[in-house]
Amino acid sequence: MGVALCWFHQDLRLGDNPVLDAAIASGDAVIPLYILDDGAAGDWAMGGASRWWLHHSLTDLSMAFERIGGKLTIQKGNALEILSAMVKETGASAIYTQTRGEPWSKAQLKTLEGQLEGTGCALKTANSAYLTQFGDVLSKSGTRMKVFTPYKRNLLARASGEGMMRPLCPRPSQISMPEKLPKSISIDALDLLPKAPDWSGGMNKAWKVGEAAALQRLDDFLEETAREYHITRDKPSIVGTSRLSPHLHFGEISPVTIYHAVMERGLSEGLEVFLSEVIWREFSYELLDQFPHMPDAPMKAEFGKFPWAEEYEGNLTAWQKGETGYPLIDAGMRELYETGWMHNRVRMITASFLTKHLLVPWQEGAKWFHDTLVDADLASNSAGWQWVAGCGADASPYFRIFNPISQGTKFDAGAYARKWCPELRELDDKTLFAPFELPEMLLAGAGVTLGKNYPKPLVDHKFARERALDAFQQIKS
Ligand code: FAD
Repeated sequence: MGVALCWFHQDLRLGDNPVLDAAIASGDAVIPLYILDDGAAGDWAMGGASRWWLHHSLTDLSMAFERIGGKLTIQKGNALEILSAMVKETGASAIYTQTRGEPWSKAQLKTLEGQLEGTGCALKTANSAYLTQFGDVLSKSGTRMKVFTPYKRNLLARASGEGMMRPLCPRPSQISMPEKLPKSISIDALDLLPKAPDWSGGMNKAWKVGEAAALQRLDDFLEETAREYHITRDKPSIVGTSRLSPHLHFGEISPVTIYHAVMERGLSEGLEVFLSEVIWREFSYELLDQFPHMPDAPMKAEFGKFPWAEEYEGNLTAWQKGETGYPLIDAGMRELYETGWMHNRVRMITASFLTKHLLVPWQEGAKWFHDTLVDADLASNSAGWQWVAGCGADASPYFRIFNPISQGTKFDAGAYARKWCPELRELDDKTLFAPFELPEMLLAGAGVTLGKNYPKPLVDHKFARERALDAFQQIKS
């Protein structure tokens, strides 16, 4: 029996995993392997919240392999060097791994392909993280797509019309291991958890990590929330979305599993909108494939000369800490720091506030999200920021500037803002989102003194809106 290395990345699951499925089907003894390679990812090495998630996800995966008679090998360092040594040590005849959308990961795989030439070890890749492979969904004239709605239409038409959506892969019930396993370090030795001060208490409370938790979350969502998703998804005060994003990012659940689960239930209005959101994730990867510079540079070239604020350190820090004086913004930023997640509507409003009210470059916001989100994802994060900032391929028009006051009322965010800004808990929904507009006496009656126990606003909304529109005029002319 030969040996196959099964190199895991963002497909940390046993069920519906085409990479693992192919490795097992080869009939070889399988060595499941995870390598933490921060150097390869460069500026986009995993942030703190993602590392916390990864620690728990690897723990879960490792136990799952033990239950079926396998053992997850863990390594840290330059993946290409480690793989090269491991191929020699084990005599592996193939490395099975997933194709990924991040430009650094594609480059790494290409180098590996070259490195393996002539060694007798083949590189076998499969798509285990996306519904489609980039470039699969084309316009009628055969070109790559840059606008979401027709992209979604074509993806769904292909999926149903031409049987493009593959069936689910079986969950393995056992795995054969080689007699001698390569050296492994412990998950603890990856050093993924925060050191003192430990800021992960809120994340421990908010999340159950791992494949079983992901599948349970999907079930609960389909049972309890999905039917009304088209209405509830915009309301941060309730659990109106699936919260599957970190599970999807780390591949604890596959989008194909979600697709089939949705289709089995039949497309209600809620499920249709939900599937649309899952396709936004695909679309973000389609864009990243076409525009590898998307995480760093604006997709609309004219934004290269946008007059961002020159000095913004203080405002950026206040935004990061949830101390802008706008309760909806502060609630979102505090939710993010505490739990590693932020509601999608609030992501849009906080991102708009940073880029348009404060004129801080969107890349700064994207970096902070990358560090603090448990679902931090190069494609979805940079596409999200470029969409909000108005410089993306299919972006929100620049003049649509989210109003951080009226959005709170419009989307019933009162309970949400009071939860994350408890110093404002005595304010009602009408006054909560603009405490600075209330007379001091009234505020004092609610226990609030601006500048003392809640910040004064960083900027006046109307002034900031006009200033942003003027800035936009400068790049148009
Ligand atoms: P649901 O509403 O239940 O949607 C189901 C799934 O669809 C999500 O889990 C996610 O995988 C996908 N999805 C939903 N909305 C989007 C979207 N707009 N773009 C891409 N995929 C989407 N999402 C990330 O996964 N990682 C990020 O780093 C990220 N950064 C963002 C940054 C900004 C500025 C913005 C505006 C959005 C960002 N998003 C990101 C998209 C979105 O906010 C999250 O995917 C969503 O809030 C996750 O919550 P959920 O799982 O409950 O979503």
